[in-house]
Amino acid sequence: MTDTTHQPDNERPLLTIGVALDGAESPEIYRAAREVVEELERSLQRDVPDFQWIFQVLSRHDFPRETPQDPLALLEFGSDIKIEYGFDFMLVVTSCPLLARFDQATSGVPSTMLETGVISMARMLDLDNVTATRRAVLGLCRHILGHLFGLDHNDASVMKPREFWTDREPLDWSEEEKQQLAAFLQDIADPRLEETATAGKTAWKFYCQVLIGDGVALAREILFFRSWRMMLHLGRFTAATAVSVIFLFLSGEAWELGAAIHSDWLNLIIAVILLLATLSLYFGQNLQAVGRSDKMMEQAVRSRIILFGTLLTGMISFWINLFLISLGVIRIMPESVLAGWAGLGGQPLPAFHFARLMATFGILASALGGNLEEEHDLKAVLIYTEET
Ligand SMILES: [Zn+2]
Repeated sequence: MTDTTHQPDNERPLLTIGVALDGAESPEIYRAAREVVEELERSLQRDVPDFQWIFQVLSRHDFPRETPQDPLALLEFGSDIKIEYGFDFMLVVTSCPLLARFDQATSGVPSTMLETGVISMARMLDLDNVTATRRAVLGLCRHILGHLFGLDHNDASVMKPREFWTDREPLDWSEEEKQQLAAFLQDIADPRLEETATAGKTAWKFYCQVLIGDGVALAREILFFRSWRMMLHLGRFTAATAVSVIFLFLSGEAWELGAAIHSDWLNLIIAVILLLATLSLYFGQNLQAVGRSDKMMEQAVRSRIILFGTLLTGMISFWINLFLISLGVIRIMPESVLAGWAGLGGQPLPAFHFARLMATFGILASALGGNLEEEHDLKAVLIYTEET
């Protein structure tokens, strides 16, 4: 027994987790969900005794009702409830199957950005018996919470990625992971900015405080985890861009236009277009509505900064890729033809200049393509941590 278990309750930081279910679910589903939640609470009290754990099951009548359920809609629904009630984390549980975007099928979608996870019991209700179903749901809940608590995948514990969730072990975190998540949660249990007396009253001041206090962590999240992955998942988005760049390459006007633009102006144009393309995707995809709330909330502001930063970094890395591809194509194509299109006479072709121009046209096309075609997929790429 460690000393922490003897601490009086008012000294241990409180962590609250909301669990939302559709009010129209059957009594059996409620019973199963409650049993899983009680078991989760008991095991967390025992395994991570540095905190007081409180789970609260909510029956909601405004639960989104579609079949299959869109995890994105459920994540946003859960995130709103989380902010409304001031929970630290939120789980949204449904007995309907989930719509899979990037994998074959999915039973759970965590979003570390929204500190919310979605769990579907649908595929686990067909298991042999009630006990197996409960154990599988419990394992999936631990896996999803593990992501929200900052854990990575690990084949030796419940953090092992699975195609299909059954009652097969391992269904618990390793001892090392329990310590890791306790360290991670120490930060969460600290008062949020809006709960402190120094919190800025205006939006600008509040945003600056979040940036100053958390800038490094935010930058890390933006640079290392999300932005690079963005383009991998967006097939149509990338295709729209590639097609328009190919057509540009074959049209003499683009080359003439390029020859007429001064190199310094082009730099400015690139910066403006990258910013505009990011803004158009941000507002076009309604990302400003993510984590909405009337009050300034540290978590909502963090989410917005990460979303915008990720999108901007994604666009910049996309521009760099397009630039490199364009440069390669220019090198391959016969220089005399290109110089002729650009109307350069006998001068050598400025390959860097034209590669930058083509990449910039590509970004313009991608902003249009992204808004027209991807609808919610772009949002899902940014918000989902994974589909499992
Ligand atoms: Zn996972």
